[in-house]
Amino acid sequence: MDLVLMGLPGAGKGTQAEMIIDRYGIPHISTGDMFRAAMKEGTELGMQAKKFMDAGELVPDEVTIGIVRERLAKSDCNKGFLLDGFPRTVPQAEALDNILQEMDRSIDYVIHIDVDRNKLLARLTGRRICRNCGATYHMVFNRPQQDGACDKCGGELYQREDDNEDTVANRLEVNIAQQEPLLEYYSNNGVLQTIDGNRDIGVVFQDVDELIGSLSE
Ligand SMILES: [Zn+2]
Repeated sequence: MDLVLMGLPGAGKGTQAEMIIDRYGIPHISTGDMFRAAMKEGTELGMQAKKFMDAGELVPDEVTIGIVRERLAKSDCNKGFLLDGFPRTVPQAEALDNILQEMDRSIDYVIHIDVDRNKLLARLTGRRICRNCGATYHMVFNRPQQDGACDKCGGELYQREDDNEDTVANRLEVNIAQQEPLLEYYSNNGVLQTIDGNRDIGVVFQDVDELIGSLSE
């Protein structure tokens, strides 16, 4: 089961990833983890990536793709893998297809957790912090008993600048624009599976589970 997981910030991708690896025992391969491991092992590509990151620059595609190739060749990927955060662009997706083809494999499914933009905005802007004691709340997931007041100390709740609607909406638009061509690429390749992520985590996972389970039948 060679899988790619896609979804916008706030779509609940991390939770679904955890549930998938728990159930199927395949490695969860995120870009950050992959870079960190390559640097820790001191591989040539890892060192190259470090050079760029230390300089505050983007790691070029050829280095990233090389690190992905080395990671997927490891024995824990024999049964499959769940890629998360890679690919981010169509050229990276094409490179991934080539890597897998060299290994006589191919992506089974790209699982896209799809959540309405308004719902994402509510999730991403919901955090509130107590000015007095620092307790955190969330207007969707962990509401205070009284809007605007801390349950513990009665202090005033505020929203961080990073969490305000304009900032979050801008960030979301960038992500949507980046994701669009990738979804189209995978849709054209016939591997895209869009799951309605507007529902409860457990219900979403049932669909994901059914989909992945069909691969081992
Ligand atoms: Zn408080």
